[in-house]
Amino acid sequence: MRIEVVTLFPAMVEGALRYGIVSRALARGLLSVGTEDPRTYTTDVHGTVDDRPYGGGPGMVMKPGPLVAAIRAAHARLPQGSPRVYLSAQGEPFTQARARELAQLPGLLLVAGRYEGVDERVIESAIDAELSVGDYVVSGGELPALTVIDALTRLLPGALGDERSSEEDSFTQGLLDWPHYTRPEVFEGRGVPPVLLSGNHADIRRWRLAQAVERTAARRPGMLEALRGQPDVARDVARAVDECRPAGAGADEDRGRKT
Ligand code: SAM
Repeated sequence: MRIEVVTLFPAMVEGALRYGIVSRALARGLLSVGTEDPRTYTTDVHGTVDDRPYGGGPGMVMKPGPLVAAIRAAHARLPQGSPRVYLSAQGEPFTQARARELAQLPGLLLVAGRYEGVDERVIESAIDAELSVGDYVVSGGELPALTVIDALTRLLPGALGDERSSEEDSFTQGLLDWPHYTRPEVFEGRGVPPVLLSGNHADIRRWRLAQAVERTAARRPGMLEALRGQPDVARDVARAVDECRPAGAGADEDRGRKT
C-alpha cells in the first residue's frame, strides 16, 4: 500500500514512522509513505501558507493555492482513484471498520490541516472524505494521519509477527480485547488468573471470550447490543454474549486478584 501525507511538518510524520510495526512494514516493502509540503508551492519570499480569515476572528486559515497544488502533486504519485482524505475534527469517525476498508486500497492520500483549518474550497474541490480520530481538537492533522497509518498498517498481511494479534484486537470481533498477563506469575502480590496457567486451551479461550464480553458490557454496552443483532458472529462469541450477565455484574472480576 502507498500512502501520501500532505503536511507542513514532513519531518514530524517521517520521524514517527521510524518506530515499531510501521517501520518494519516499511522495511519489508508492505507499505510506503511519502510526504508533500504545501510550502514548496508558495510563490512569495516568506513561503506563506496561511492567511487571516475572511469575516474576521481569531487564528489563521491554510491558503487554498499551495495546499491544492501539494494535494495534486502527491495524488499524482498514487494509484489512480486513491481517495483524498482530510483529517478533520468534523469528519466521519475513524473506526476499526473504516480502517479495514482503507487497508484494502492500493493508495491513500492524507491531508493534515493546521491553524483554524483549511479554506473550505479545498475540501470542495480536492477532498473526497473527512475523517476524525475523536471528539476533541488537536493542533494539527499530523498525529491523526499517523493514527490512521498505524491502524491500517496493523491490518496489512505480514505486518504483524502473528496475524492473530489483529484478529483478536479490540473492535475486530465487535468486542473489546480481553485482559493480558505475562511473567512474573505474581507481581506485587497480584497473581495471574489460574485458568491461564492451566494449559487447557479450550478453557482459556472460553475464559478470554467471557472476559472480553463482560468488559465490553461494562465499558461499551452499545457495542454488545450491536453484536447481539448480527447473524454472522462466530459461534463461541455468540455463546459468550448470550451467557453474559447484566452490564457491569462481575466485569473484570479476576483483575487485581490477590494471592
Ligand atoms: N477549527 C477546527 C475545528 O474546530 O474543527 C480545528 C482546527 S485544528 C486546531 C487544526 C487541524 O488539526 C485541523 O485542520 C485538522 O486537520 C486537525 N485535527 C484537529 N482535531 C482533529 C481530529 N479530532 N481528527 C482529525 N483531525 C483533527
